[in-house]
Amino acid sequence: MNFPNLIAILCFLAISFNACKAPADQSSSSEAILPEAYEYALVIHGGAGNMNFQNLPEGPQNQYKQALDSALQLGLDVLKEEGTSIDAVEAVIRYLEDNPLFNAGRGAVFTSEGKNELDASIMFGKDLNAGAVAGVTDIRHPISAARAVMEQSEHVMFAGKGASVFAEQAGLEIVDPSWFYTEKRYESYRRAVEKEEHGTVGCVALDREGNLCAGTSTGGMTNKKYGRIGDSPIIGAGTYANNATCGVSATGHGEYFIRWTVAHQISVLMEFKGMDVEAAAREVVEKQLVEVGGDGGVVCLDKYGRPAMVTNTSGMFRAYGNSAGEHLVAIFK
Ligand code: ASP
Repeated sequence: MNFPNLIAILCFLAISFNACKAPADQSSSSEAILPEAYEYALVIHGGAGNMNFQNLPEGPQNQYKQALDSALQLGLDVLKEEGTSIDAVEAVIRYLEDNPLFNAGRGAVFTSEGKNELDASIMFGKDLNAGAVAGVTDIRHPISAARAVMEQSEHVMFAGKGASVFAEQAGLEIVDPSWFYTEKRYESYRRAVEKEEHGTVGCVALDREGNLCAGTSTGGMTNKKYGRIGDSPIIGAGTYANNATCGVSATGHGEYFIRWTVAHQISVLMEFKGMDVEAAAREVVEKQLVEVGGDGGVVCLDKYGRPAMVTNTSGMFRAYGNSAGEHLVAIFK
């Protein structure tokens, strides 16, 4: 054997040896960095906005905290009893839709025409199935209609009258539009209050099977033009869930959340840039949205049940709990 041939054989052996070793090295290093996973976890928001002790004194603060606390407990109980993340998200949001404190279901804000037009969506992280309703005026629980669209139709979104017909056929409760009326929101509409309104609701849950689900429900923005649809029912903008990364529910100035595909972008930053959920949420909410003046925030859970609750406003009604007994309710930043 001449000298160049010998060198070629030695090189071949060295490359083969390294190629065989590589997978074992990679798996041991990724095992070493896996964070501890919670058996189940749940995070909620009740809207973000510019809140302070003047426009939100102690009495109302306590009312919001109690409502968030009850909603959190309700969702955690569902997950504890082996309920799915979809069941938990639906139960929490139905509860908040019935609570007039929040801008979803009863207590929704008014359009410029003095009507309530509601949007909601839900997404399941296991198979990326999703459902949404937009501009509905008579479905008591828009989140349940979104779930029905996800589970009982081959479509993703229904709007207006068609959504109501579909919801009724699915056995959901249809109400007179006056059901959504509250004095407080009507006053805001009459005074043409835009900026200080908040109260969209959202929830992300991780269940014992490791499945994430995210949902969002809203009356939209006060004085919105009739027919306007925000980010809340748009999959990838106001709501997103993917078991590979995270679940996200957003609240804020919807037009920006749609244009910056906020919820999906957080997932993408995790998947392709390797960011953790907190870093990804901060990148989008505190940098990208701030640069363009898009007010609002997000609540997220990663696939281990770890939360990110990030807002670029002075407050966001929020709550988080998990199977390890952590339980947090907060309003101000
Ligand atoms: N994002 C909602 C919308 O634009 C409003 C909100 O979250 O306050 O319709």
